[in-house]
Amino acid sequence: MKPLLLAAFFWFSACSLMADEGARPLRIICFGAHPDDCEIQAGGVAAMWAAKGHKVKLVSVTNGDIGHWREAGGPLALRRKKEADQADKILGVTTEILDIHDGELLPTLENRKLITKAIREWNADLVLGPRPNDYHPDHRYTGVLVQDAAYMVTVPFFCPDVPAMKNNPVFMYYPDRFQKPNPFKPDVAVSIDSVIDKKLDALGVMISQFAEGGANGGPNLYPDDAAKQKTRQEQVRKNFSNWFAGNANHFRETLGEFYGADQSGKVQFAEAFELCEYGRQPDKKELERLFPFFEQKK
Ligand SMILES: [Zn+2]
Repeated sequence: MKPLLLAAFFWFSACSLMADEGARPLRIICFGAHPDDCEIQAGGVAAMWAAKGHKVKLVSVTNGDIGHWREAGGPLALRRKKEADQADKILGVTTEILDIHDGELLPTLENRKLITKAIREWNADLVLGPRPNDYHPDHRYTGVLVQDAAYMVTVPFFCPDVPAMKNNPVFMYYPDRFQKPNPFKPDVAVSIDSVIDKKLDALGVMISQFAEGGANGGPNLYPDDAAKQKTRQEQVRKNFSNWFAGNANHFRETLGEFYGADQSGKVQFAEAFELCEYGRQPDKKELERLFPFFEQKK
């Protein structure tokens, strides 16, 4: 328990420091195609921002209603909403799920307006989303829609019912493994060691997607047997743990730029993000302001 208490102390100290300085909390909005994408890609930093008093919203652009091998439609959308609410409660962030069918997302004008308004209404400093060359069409078009909004959020007579933003937010991408036309190139990498259990707990409650296997699962993955279910949940946790540990190794060089060589070598789990060429272009100092997690570097 001691490390947890220590961590809580640092969090409280950080919050009071922010209050002392009178600094406005950062406002971050993350877009994912399905109710689990944001949690996987940014659940760690989201929990870290939230713990420091910053405001984070995770938006799923579709309702996830075909994301299961056995069930679909309204009941699945409701089940996934419940799971996302539970997960995001663990992370300490706000959730929104847009009522667009899973597998049917298109980069239409109507959806461009939805995303533009969502960013404006959250008054975001930072917007995260997938790159537009992901394998899944919903992921791809979420990436395109966020790109399409990157400039339009500042244009007063586009969606004039929600005031345009005076400051263009910074837009960044989640990592993926796709190489063509160009591979993911990290601009910031963050140690999520302090919140790894919280992130794994959050993903653990999304039973429909991970324990049961989502769209490509089957009845054998999560049988109706308490012991087998526990084993499966442990396996899911281990798989995610390996994934985020792999990120730390993969992005070690970028971790070094933010934490220094000694400390970056000790990071076990990481998340990383790449700058979009649209939106505000931050220098390293501003990146460190948007990701205020490098206090203990050097
Ligand atoms: Zn997805």
